[in-house]
Amino acid sequence: MDYDTYGSSAVELAIDLANAELDPPDGVVAFLTAHEEWFAPGTSFHLSPGETAQAAKTGQLIRAVAVAESEADVLTRLNQLLALARPRPYATDHDGELHLHYARPDAPALEQLTTTVAMGLSQVVVQHGWQRLGVCSAEGCGNVYVDTSRNASRRYCSNTCASRSTVAAYRARQKT
Ligand SMILES: [Zn+2]
Ligand SMILES: [Zn+2]
Repeated sequence: MDYDTYGSSAVELAIDLANAELDPPDGVVAFLTAHEEWFAPGTSFHLSPGETAQAAKTGQLIRAVAVAESEADVLTRLNQLLALARPRPYATDHDGELHLHYARPDAPALEQLTTTVAMGLSQVVVQHGWQRLGVCSAEGCGNVYVDTSRNASRRYCSNTCASRSTVAAYRARQKT
């Protein structure tokens, strides 16, 4: 599986949003600033309180898709997310490679964010299967992830959680 294209790599923005601490008032702006390469140049990150709340809700919707345990639930929740998207795709080669962006470049930051994550997440679900999304198995983590491994064997959000769990399992075996 190849996530090199924007179409699928946009799912990484969705996963980041679902896992981000979006505490008011500055959490969402900090998130946007840390991910500014996803937004058209000149996009303002000054959000109203309503927009900030909507961005946080979008993160919760992504999480709801990732934790759903049946295809029917994934589709229901994915379509809730897609209903917030305002796609107006355009082709660009701004980074030297021809690819599509999903939101119009003059859209407000929230519209660009919602549209990009909804389209990126749904691309992965329809192309690679809803089982590719999951929740980290490490104790006390709870981050969601997209499984890009060849054999769909991923269980952790990060290498940190994977090795932490390996160590914990080893210690548990030593005790018994
Ligand atoms: Zn681009
Ligand atoms: Zn984790």
